[in-house]
Amino acid sequence: MKNLKDLVRTNIWQLKPYSSARDEFHGEASVFLDANENPWNLPYNRYPDPLQWKLKTRIAELKKIDQHAIFVGNGSDEAIDLIIRAFCEPGINNIATISPSYGMYEVAADINHVACLKVPLTENFELDGKKLLEKTDICTKVIFLCSPNNPSGNLLEREEVYKVLNTFQGIVVIDEAYIDFASEPSFIRDLSYYPNLVVLQTLSKAWGAAGIRLGMAFASPEIISVLNKIKYPYNVNQLTQEYALKVLSDTRRMQEQLKQILNERERLTELFSQSPFNYKIYPSDANFILVEVGDADRMYQTLIGEGVVVRNRNNVTLCKGCLRITIGTPDENEKLLKAMKRLII
Ligand SMILES: *Cc1c(COP(=O)(O)O)cnc(C)c1O
Repeated sequence: MKNLKDLVRTNIWQLKPYSSARDEFHGEASVFLDANENPWNLPYNRYPDPLQWKLKTRIAELKKIDQHAIFVGNGSDEAIDLIIRAFCEPGINNIATISPSYGMYEVAADINHVACLKVPLTENFELDGKKLLEKTDICTKVIFLCSPNNPSGNLLEREEVYKVLNTFQGIVVIDEAYIDFASEPSFIRDLSYYPNLVVLQTLSKAWGAAGIRLGMAFASPEIISVLNKIKYPYNVNQLTQEYALKVLSDTRRMQEQLKQILNERERLTELFSQSPFNYKIYPSDANFILVEVGDADRMYQTLIGEGVVVRNRNNVTLCKGCLRITIGTPDENEKLLKAMKRLII
């Protein structure tokens, strides 16, 4: 990897960040008259911890990683935007990613006036590391990978990901929003070998807390401090910090729900491949299945008519005829199956 200083935009490297009252005073005190807060209505009258240390302590313990290697933000989407803003000079630099994949990489790039180079996956949604690297140019600062990938559901082949990590001189982001559902370990363990690696995870999927907006980025403390420098001072509110701690304290509940989702994923996969469906199912390491149903638009509308909403991916690269179906409760999945059968029989 290049020096971090040469990768970060010059104005960001030189930026003197906003310093809040909460940044300037650390320690114990009984009277806080430093932040123009209302003295009543505790605890929500107070500004939250800008660096979320209590929450990071728990995440560090859970993920077996240094607290200073953790960024938390308003969903993974905040981290995606900050990474692009930290490294890519608008109108000059670009990012590279795979197609199909999560739409936010390109949207965040567009908002920042940063071009997005897209390399199609193979027919089976596999990554060709060499092809991706060949697509990059001297202006490419960041590569976004997503594994397990959305909307295809598969893990990218590890060897191909290493090829990218070993060769690319800029930042490599691996979005692991669905890693808890996967049969392979996270790339977090590779952070000590790859100073250019950023791993994204979230509380929005397996942890069941999409509503509180809490995303995590794991990277070298140097990269994390760049992200901290440019984030909004209080990017994660007090209610979210508290609820996230609560969610992360109950790993048993998460594990139980995870087990049910994986059971249901297996059951639906099995059923879809049998008659009367006979659909093409793409193997999934996530909490959804990409299913090729033929006339996806028609099936989508029929399901809507039955009150069941899935994601129509018919117009997405390599996904013609496909619906992306999230695994619900056993009850919800039964309703889906019933509605689908009605169209066939
Ligand atoms: C759902 C999802 C996320 C989660 O984003 P949040 O902002 O944390 O809710 C991130 N990446 C991918 C690929 C996703 O599908």
